[in-house]
Amino acid sequence: MGIVVVGTVGYDTIETQTNKAVEALGGSATYFSLAARFFGPVSLVAAVGTDFRPEHRDLLTERNIDLRGLESRDGLTFRWHGRYHEDMNLRDTLNLALNVFADFTPDLLPDQRRADYLFLANISPELQAAVLDQMASPKVVAADTMNHWIENSRPQLIRLLNRIDILTLNDEEARMLSGEHNLVKAGRAILKMGPRTALVKRGEYGVLQFSEDGMFAVPAYPLEDVHDPTGAGDTFAGAFMGYIARNGRLNERARRAAVVYGSVMASYVVERFSVQRILELTWDDVEARYRAFLELTDSHHPRWTSP
Ligand code: AMP
Repeated sequence: MGIVVVGTVGYDTIETQTNKAVEALGGSATYFSLAARFFGPVSLVAAVGTDFRPEHRDLLTERNIDLRGLESRDGLTFRWHGRYHEDMNLRDTLNLALNVFADFTPDLLPDQRRADYLFLANISPELQAAVLDQMASPKVVAADTMNHWIENSRPQLIRLLNRIDILTLNDEEARMLSGEHNLVKAGRAILKMGPRTALVKRGEYGVLQFSEDGMFAVPAYPLEDVHDPTGAGDTFAGAFMGYIARNGRLNERARRAAVVYGSVMASYVVERFSVQRILELTWDDVEARYRAFLELTDSHHPRWTSP
């Protein structure tokens, strides 16, 4: 058993300044799984309603994502409606319907409880804790969160932070959680709250990692056309955890490579709406952009260093 992910699977309506997708496949656990599966086995835990389309279940199964934990319940599937500003780092949530997710508490299967790697995607800290309680002795536990939980479930979130190894969140959320405007101060303050690693996602500005070994920064891969940033954060987390699980250890070397793989995969997902780009992605594509990424930031690259 590799990675277990608990999060949303649902339908997104996404508006950008130029385009719109209605009820496209989305959800934090969906993006995470579609990225992590490139590195090893992934077991997805979520709930969907009776309206969840069989072709979407097939699409995940065909990519070797274990769906034994995708519970089908009476009612409607989770839905989210978001609109991006011209500055695509900014978006408004126009509508959020938890639907069957509202009272969902998963009961993990025996083999899922024994998994070494757990990702608690963006869901309530209570639900994240209820899942963590069921785990035997995971090697690495990572969690994501958002402004909503920082504002409305702060005590529960603070309790959870003491029990996890890695926290992923965006820059605004890092400021909100720590009460520090400066991101370096915010990152350090978050490490004091429990996690050994904090990954601060900064949209088109890349990712800043804080750990006991210091800071590590990676830019976002510069793209001419960003069509839909939805899911970039979850895709980043999927590739990051996928790499860590495949590597088997959480040292600084592994973390740095994992941050680059996460950024590579996230740079692909934003090229098309919803999950379209990540569905067609091959491992060769991933390796090609990994190399392009290294070249982008390497001032000692052999091609450009004079003899
Ligand atoms: P990201 O762009 O990485 O933050 O992830 C976007 C995905 O998260 C979308 O596919 C949404 O379906 C899902 N999502 C949006 N809001 C929430 C929420 N409050 N709880 C859980 N998942 C959400």
